[in-house]
Amino acid sequence: MVTTIDLDDETDRWRWVCPRGHRSWEATNNHFWCAECAHTYAGDDYDPEFDHLHNLASGETVHRDDLRLLTRAGPYDTLRGGSA
Ligand SMILES: [Zn+2]
Repeated sequence: MVTTIDLDDETDRWRWVCPRGHRSWEATNNHFWCAECAHTYAGDDYDPEFDHLHNLASGETVHRDDLRLLTRAGPYDTLRGGSA
């Protein structure tokens, strides 16, 4: 089952956090990246890139492959070319 996140919708987006509970994540082609993690854990071994998002509303953790990311320009996943 695929879950849709509208990246331009604050309330939709704010239900989702990075593995460390931040809302400052950004989508990239094949995974996510968290600015707060990159800042907080700079110099540590922790990798601010991850491929799951945590849903605060449902308590679920969902893999990038099961998320459909919408932007004003259209579905983010059209950028993916089977590189996963
Ligand atoms: Zn984070």
